[in-house]
Amino acid sequence: MIKGSYALVVMTGDCLIGVRDPYGLRPLCLGLLADGYVLASESCALDVIGAEFVRDVEPGEIIIINKTGLESRKVQAGNRRASCIFEYIYFARSDSVIDGTSVYEARKSAGKILAQEHPVEADMVIAVPDTSIPAAMGYAEASGIPFGEGLVKNRYVGRTFIQPEQELRETSVRLKLNPVRCNVSGKRIVMIDDSIVRGTTGRQIVSMLRMAGAREVHLRISSPPVVHCCHFGIDTPDREQLIGAVKTIEQIRVAIGADSLGYLSIEGLVRSTGRRAEHLCLACFQGEYPMEVPMVGNKKVFESK
Ligand code: SF4
Repeated sequence: MIKGSYALVVMTGDCLIGVRDPYGLRPLCLGLLADGYVLASESCALDVIGAEFVRDVEPGEIIIINKTGLESRKVQAGNRRASCIFEYIYFARSDSVIDGTSVYEARKSAGKILAQEHPVEADMVIAVPDTSIPAAMGYAEASGIPFGEGLVKNRYVGRTFIQPEQELRETSVRLKLNPVRCNVSGKRIVMIDDSIVRGTTGRQIVSMLRMAGAREVHLRISSPPVVHCCHFGIDTPDREQLIGAVKTIEQIRVAIGADSLGYLSIEGLVRSTGRRAEHLCLACFQGEYPMEVPMVGNKKVFESK
């Protein structure tokens, strides 16, 4: 009965239950330990506890585990699969495998395709850590430009784009990242980031790199422009705050202060996952949501009934 995107693990006194939404927007997988089954949203969690990966829970499947074993009920299927592409771009850990695709391989492959789509002459490829590292390595491999560590991450602060106040977000970026001056000074840098939401982080980082002596900063994004909001649980800002929705690519480049800017194409992104476009949700790039999104006032929201 519940619409939208979700992956649930429910425990009762004698039962463990896993539920994946009918479109498979969110991941959920099944693992095996010596003394029983485990469920996790990402396969990397199985590795941590030494469990063996058994399989992904299917879209619309309910798994019930109790002392008699495992029972699978396929209660409802969406009219198609629609795995969230942003799991591969940003959300999932790169050591996870989702629906048969390694997140690390997908990110690296996205970087390689990005290098083919948007080549540039430069001295070093750097990543905005951590999610962009595999894409930067892919870009470096495909372009022949060496990969280097240009930014160091403070691991004790949270995600910047969900901070409510602009000033707070800008301070957060400086708290979160610091350039490695000896690596970037005097160099033409290709900086790989996984996505641009508001553009705040990109502008701050480009400015920090220039202050650290970078001669040129070429920004390459391993996903297409985010032009629509997510209504499936991902905390995107309102559409007017999505820089990709309100500015052209050249205007974004100017706003961020980069010497050049290139985004991965939708086709390139899909190819990087090795999956079929019709099995993915690409709504934040294309605006075609896999299911109807109800309206309340002038806002689209999901509700359960
Ligand atoms: S709209 Fe974007 S972030 Fe939301 S589920 Fe679809 S692909 Fe993922």
